[in-house]
Amino acid sequence: MNRKATELRIGGLARLSTCDWPGQLVATIFCQGCAWDCPYCHNPGLRSLQAEDLISWRSIVEFLQSRRSLLDGVVFSGGEPTLQSALLDAVTEVRKLGFRIGLHTAGIVPERLASLLPLLDWVGFDVKAPFAIYPRITGIEGSGDNALESLRSLLVSGIPHEIRTTVHPFLLSPTDLLELRDQLLYLGIENFVVQQFSPRGMLSGRLPSVSEYPIVPQNLGSDFLCFRVR
Ligand code: SF4
Repeated sequence: MNRKATELRIGGLARLSTCDWPGQLVATIFCQGCAWDCPYCHNPGLRSLQAEDLISWRSIVEFLQSRRSLLDGVVFSGGEPTLQSALLDAVTEVRKLGFRIGLHTAGIVPERLASLLPLLDWVGFDVKAPFAIYPRITGIEGSGDNALESLRSLLVSGIPHEIRTTVHPFLLSPTDLLELRDQLLYLGIENFVVQQFSPRGMLSGRLPSVSEYPIVPQNLGSDFLCFRVR
């Protein structure tokens, strides 16, 4: 049974963001909790399901009521938002307030993402690696299967999206990246963003530092309609 929006565990709120949903002025709600363990996670404080100092749903609604007509939309980010069954009710409430809805997800819970898709206007989807080697990044067996199932239902939905992959040379080799490119092209993905690893926010010591940007194979993006490195 799905929980009510009032039970959504919220670890943070960005009142104004211009980068969480490209081209949109949004507020971003950071949902608490993640089931994976990516070494480069920028929000390690959001990973635990059990956290103190959570933000109440009522205060979020009050804030959003004061921002009607000032924001283009609201992004649910994390952590991993799809872990919480209260997300469905929360998204429904925010839609009723008149906001468009964006979601950041790694596709950890495919069935919940599938039930959310009809309520979403945009999805930022993190692809971690070629699907067979996901556990190298996430630490969780079977994580690639969940991600692939989620990605397929996103693509079938036709909802605008951004597919992005964070690259650290210790985790993804140029050969891995070319394999991932082939998998994404096979799925019909046209737009692909490679994100440079950044140590900002991550727990220290989990990954060796990189003195220069990892080698992205020259032909990595040539077959996508749109390809960016940021
Ligand atoms: S899936 Fe996202 S929130 Fe979860 S550990 Fe990985 S980077 Fe962090």
